[in-house]
Formats: sequence, structure tokens, C-alpha cells
Amino acid sequence: MGLLALGTPLVWNESREYNDFIREKGVQYILNVFKNAGERDHDELYWGDEIEYMLIEFNEWSKQAKLDIVHDNLLTVLNTDTATDLNGVSDENINYYRLCLDNDVNFHPEYGRFMLEATPLNPYLNLNGNYNYVEYNMKVRRELAEDIISNYNENSKSIKYKPLTITSFPRLGTNNFINVDEKLVWNHKNNASRSLFLPDEVINRHIRFPTLTSNIRERRGEKVAMNIPMYKDMNTPDHDDTIYQRDWFPREDAEAAGASKKDHIYMDSMGFGMGCSCLQTTYQAPNINAARYLYDSLVNFAPIFLALSSAAPFFKGWLADQDVRWNVISGGTDDRTPRERDTESVLPQYNIGGLGNIAKDKYNKVQSLPKARYSHVDLFLGGNKFFKRTFNDTNVPLNEDLLKVLLENDIAPMDYDMAKHFSHLYVRDPLVIFEENINDKTDGSLQNHFENIQSTNWQTLRFKPPTLDATPDNKSVPGWRVEFRPLEVQLTDFENAAYSIFIYLLVESILKFSDSLNPYLSMSKIWQNMDTAHKRDPISSQKFHWKTTFNNALNPEGKTEELVIDEIFHNKENGIFQIYINPILIDKKIIEKDWKELKHSSKYLRLYYYLKLISDRASKKLPSVANYLRSFILSHPEYHQDSRISEIINFDLLEMCDRITHFDNSRNEMDSYFGKELTEYLLNNDVSY
Ligand code: ADP
Ligand code: MG
Ligand code: MG
Ligand code: MG
Ligand code: MG
Ligand code: MG
Repeated sequence: MGLLALGTPLVWNESREYNDFIREKGVQYILNVFKNAGERDHDELYWGDEIEYMLIEFNEWSKQAKLDIVHDNLLTVLNTDTATDLNGVSDENINYYRLCLDNDVNFHPEYGRFMLEATPLNPYLNLNGNYNYVEYNMKVRRELAEDIISNYNENSKSIKYKPLTITSFPRLGTNNFINVDEKLVWNHKNNASRSLFLPDEVINRHIRFPTLTSNIRERRGEKVAMNIPMYKDMNTPDHDDTIYQRDWFPREDAEAAGASKKDHIYMDSMGFGMGCSCLQTTYQAPNINAARYLYDSLVNFAPIFLALSSAAPFFKGWLADQDVRWNVISGGTDDRTPRERDTESVLPQYNIGGLGNIAKDKYNKVQSLPKARYSHVDLFLGGNKFFKRTFNDTNVPLNEDLLKVLLENDIAPMDYDMAKHFSHLYVRDPLVIFEENINDKTDGSLQNHFENIQSTNWQTLRFKPPTLDATPDNKSVPGWRVEFRPLEVQLTDFENAAYSIFIYLLVESILKFSDSLNPYLSMSKIWQNMDTAHKRDPISSQKFHWKTTFNNALNPEGKTEELVIDEIFHNKENGIFQIYINPILIDKKIIEKDWKELKHSSKYLRLYYYLKLISDRASKKLPSVANYLRSFILSHPEYHQDSRISEIINFDLLEMCDRITHFDNSRNEMDSYFGKELTEYLLNNDVSY
């Protein structure tokens, strides 16, 4: 999430006047960063993860599980962002602050009022031999959140609050999905999103979030519309029958009929996507060129890991015919006008010419934008000996005016490939501008303006430049970082640690062997892989483009073959374990040849099980989270072969998730989720470091 500035946000029709101003200031800022930090070198491989939770209210008596939108003040208690010292913290909260600081954890707000994000307070460094710390830290985060939210349990025996790491909430946007009186909520009407399904009360109270929601809708000229294929069972209806008539907003309330599609789940607001949880990890590279190479190397892995972490088989009370959240968030933040999407307006009488609410004097600048601002990576960054411009073979629009500035300026001229990256980000408009920022008279020293565009380009990877003060000598602030963003969040800290550490080992390997590994293939194939990752059960049912070999001498042109995920991980010639994981573990002298040797090491036994989890999921010995959740629903006694997730199924499912999260194998669920061997290990080995 970007900076949570305080201030007065402008509504779309006011803010759009400042779009060029913000972009120009943002570009000045990034040029200053390149000038100040471009020569920075030898930064250490600091890294960290971000985990997002949903707060769930379980009612044992009524057998309901709802999203908790009442206790979001929990964050003011937990948020350590401002608490480097304890001055000004109330007595009541001081213990939690201290606990966060002492336990090296940090909590942040997220889009959903029912959401919580947590990171390590200090980034990890040199975990060599101490990989368990990641899971340990995750566990402490969860326990702190559980501890504080359980304070609210006291008045009732039947009600319990829990933070769960589920990617999508099964009944988001249906009846009885939040823990407040629905009549009261809907009486306010929901002016920000105008959704038929999500009241604005699901949105974080910080003014940035409702403004982001309404400005996306305003710019687009209509509500966002996500149509996700519905899982087809015997009694599944051929339309999403939760759509209903309403007459609060003459335009938006009339959109559903035209915007929804047969055989699809229809969703109409940002919260359906930004209300999903995920797992992200960020890695610092030694210098800018290494960061570019790392970014380019990870591009390839994003769709594969989206599939391998798939954990979202349902949306809005329906089973979906896909397993991941990605295109829902993409659609939920899609501010493009119909013209930019090369399509017709849903209601042409209102959204005239498909131009949304673009300022009239900007009509001549409107260009077609093939991809939403939340989408997979657009461009390789290049800057190394393996890169060829022809690998960037997709249609990626640029802000041509700013491209020129980035290339030719007195501050720090960029090379073409780097400039292209930023000039693509800058085809987007700012979505939320604060009144306090429109009088900036500096020559590009305010980070806000840059972050405004940067942090609302949500791609599978984010290239995170440092701040202005990150001069080569100032190591007290971060340097050039790359964020890996496709992962869906898993039910347990064990799994989240396993995925995070797997990517960390990949990153180490990529940086270590950067001289010999050629990561490139055509970007168009990555885009296809991303579509493939959206098919149901992508691990079992799909083939992905994968390089025949990463050896540059043998494959400089990026030749690929089509492989299933099992092969992508386990092939001898081009599999991830063989090419990336074994070599880095050998280099660290942790193994001699093969990662499976770790099974016989007491020091690295947990690392063995992290790798084994990934390996077993890739080879289908273990189910993905999405597989497991889908099977639970399909075999529930109250399931009527109609793809619907009733309140009781929702309740039982989330209780099951809670049991797995806490390694409660009283119903043998862990045995099928983790397999017998891993279950036994987990039940007998608490994480310690
Ligand atoms: P965002 O939401 O913008 O991605 P967060 O602050 O939520 O940012 O998360 C940033 C992540 O980066 C955290 O996991 C944190 O531990 C990690 N991190 C912090 N400093 C560094 C650094 N110097 N290098 C790499 N990662 C870092
Ligand atoms: Mg987040
Ligand atoms: Mg974050
Ligand atoms: Mg974030
Ligand atoms: Mg942040
Ligand atoms: Mg992040």
C-alpha cells in the first residue's frame, strides 16, 4: 500500500485538473532519485514479507461467520508505524505497542475495514541457518492480533473473533456477511462504490480509500464490472441471480443488466478485489542493475506462483470456475474508460462516447490501454547483457511526452528501457490527490507525487526505487528493491513462510548466478501464462510456457516449451529445483547435490519441509488451498450441487480453516491438507529459532 497521507482528498472532477501537474512532479522526483541513488552499490539482501488477514466473527450459536467491520480500531492499538518511541501512546495501548516493538512486528491498515496487514518490523537479513525466524515472526504477528481481538469476545460465550489468512471471503457481498445490522448500513446508501452488494462500510475509514473507490468509478464513467466464470454444477443457474433492482442511483443501479454476463459471477465494486488478501515479499538488490535483472528474472515466476499458491475458488457466495483472486482485483481497480478499453459503454446515454469523466481538453490525448493498472508486468527492464528489446513484444502504451523528459534532462537521463518502464506507469492518471499537495513549489522533492502513480500501478512485480535521501553513503534508508506480488495468502504461517522462503532462495540464486542465467522469453508468453493461471485447477490441468534451458549459450533467443507445473519444478534440464534451488543450497554448503538431503539434517529439517510442501503441491501429491476448499464445499452435506455457498457451509468452511491454521487435527483435516508425514512433523515440532 502506498503512503497513507492525511489531508483533504479531491473528488475526481476537481482532481483531474492536476493530473499533469502530479505526473510532472513525480517524474522530476524519480529523476532526482536516479541522480542521488543511481550509484548506490553493495546493499545487502534485506527482505521482508507482508501478510494480510481478515477479521472474522464466528457465532457458534447462530452458526454464522461474518466479516468483522466493527473492531477496526484494533489497528490504532497495534499500528507501530508512528511508534518509534512510546510518547503519546495511551496507557491502555502501551503494552501492545511495546509487544509489537519487542517482538519485531508491524501492523498496517488495508483497503477492507475487516482487514489487517502485518510485516516484520525490521527486514530480515542473513537468515542463513535461521530460516525458521520467518515463520516464527509470522506466528507472533498472528498471536498478537488474536490476543488483542479476543478482548472483544468477553461479552458473549458464543461469539469469537479471529484473524484468518484466507484469500477471498466466501460470502463477501451476500446476505449477512458483515457483523452490523444490514438495514442500518444500507440506509446510508453507499455513495462511494454504489455497489448493489457491498456497502461502503466495508471500506477502510481512512478517507483515501472511499475516495479511491469513487474516483475510479467516476473516471471510468460507470461502475467497475467483474464477470468471473461460475463453477458449473448440476443445479447451477445460468445467471448470477443475486442481482436485483434498486433505484438509489439512476445510472449505476441500471448497469447490472448490461454489465453482467450469463454463466458468470457479477461483481460491481473495488472491494471485491481489494477485499482479497495476499502474501507479498520484497527484496533489496545490491544496486540498480542487479535490481533490474532480479525483476526481469522474477517476471517468469509470477504466473507460475500465482497458480501454485491458488487459494480463491469462490466469490460472492458462488463457487467460481477459477482458483485465484488476480483478475477480480484487476477488474475492481480498472479505472479505464470504455474507449480506453476499446469497448462500448454499458449505458451509452450516460457514458457518452465511452469517454467516462475525462476532462474535455484531454479528449485528444485518450489512447487505447490494453491492460488495467492492476495487472501483470508489462515490460522487462533490461540493462544487462542477456536482454534484447525484442523480448518486450507486447503492445504497451507510453506517455510519450514524459518518455522524452526521462530520456533527455539535466538531472539524470535514463536509458531507453528504464525510461520506458516509468513512461508506461505514467500513462495512468492519479486517482487520489490531496488538496495539500497541489501547491508544491519544489523541483521534485516530494515523494507523494511519484508514489501517487507508482503505488496505483499494481503489477505482479513492483520495482521499488529508493527515496531521495538514499545516497550511496546513506545506508540507513532502503536501496533498490523488487516486490513479488502474485502470491495468494495461505491458511497457515508454515505455508506462508514456505512460499516466502522459497522465493527468497530463488532471489538469492538469481543474484548469485546472474552471470550465467538468462531469464528472458517473450513477454507475450508471460501474458498467456497469466491467463492460464486463471483456469480452474491450473496445477493439474494446464501447461505453461517455460524456457527449454536458462543456459545463455544454448538458448539466447528465449526458446520455450509447454510444460505442466510438476515439470516446471522438477525437470532435470530446466526445472526450478535443479536450476535455482539446488545450486544456491550447494553454494551455501547446506547440501551436496540435492535439496532432499535436508531431510537428514536436524538444523535444516524445517527448511526441508518448506521445500517439500512446494514440491508436493507442484507434483499434485498435495492439494492447493483452492483445491482443498473447493472439495470441502462440494462434499458438504448442505451443498445442493448449485455452486452456492450457504451460510452454514461458509461457517463450517471457516471453522475448518481456523482448525488448520492452528494445527488442530481433531478431524483429520491436516492429514489430507498436508499429508501424513508433514502433519506428523508439524504436530511434533513447534516452530522455534
Ligand atoms: P508496501 O505495502 O508498499 O509493499 P510495506 O511497508 O507494507 O510496503 O512492506 C514492505 C516490505 O519490505 C516489508 O516486508 C518489509 O519488511 C520489507 N523491507 C523493509 N525494508 C527493506 C529493505 N531495505 N529491503 C528489502 N525489504 C525491505
Ligand atoms: Mg497489503
Ligand atoms: Mg504493505
Ligand atoms: Mg500493501
Ligand atoms: Mg506500505
Ligand atoms: Mg506490498
